[in-house]
Amino acid sequence: MADCVFCKIRDGQIPSVKVYEDDKTFCIMDINPLNRGHCLVITKVHAATLFESKGDDLAAAIATARRVARGALKPDGLNLLQANGAAAFQSVPHFHLHLIPRFANDGKGFDWPQVLGDRAELAKTGEALRAAVAAEATAKPIAAGEGTGS
Ligand SMILES: [Zn+2]
Repeated sequence: MADCVFCKIRDGQIPSVKVYEDDKTFCIMDINPLNRGHCLVITKVHAATLFESKGDDLAAAIATARRVARGALKPDGLNLLQANGAAAFQSVPHFHLHLIPRFANDGKGFDWPQVLGDRAELAKTGEALRAAVAAEATAKPIAAGEGTGS
């Protein structure tokens, strides 16, 4: 896609610190690291979000995340972050996974306070989601309906 920063990085038009590359994905260092080793796994095919991405590209991205994290970062723990849409603070509309290595007592925290949910509301929402997922699965089998990415 013409104006996409990650497509330009993929094509070498914008420099990056590349960590890994295969036929479906590449991994670069994040220029605003949350922690040492924070990098991004990016699908080579342009698709804005999880919803436009094809299943095999998503599987490749997860496999690359595991490969880089286990083989190179070797953190004590790992946060994977993946944002979809402006409401979720996605800054570049091209599917990517943040690999955020975590180290014991790294002082970075995890800033989502735990608030116990209302049990009745959880049950009601869960019921509605279960029905919607079942209806979607009937309408579009997962194997045939994955992604529409360009
Ligand atoms: Zn792109």
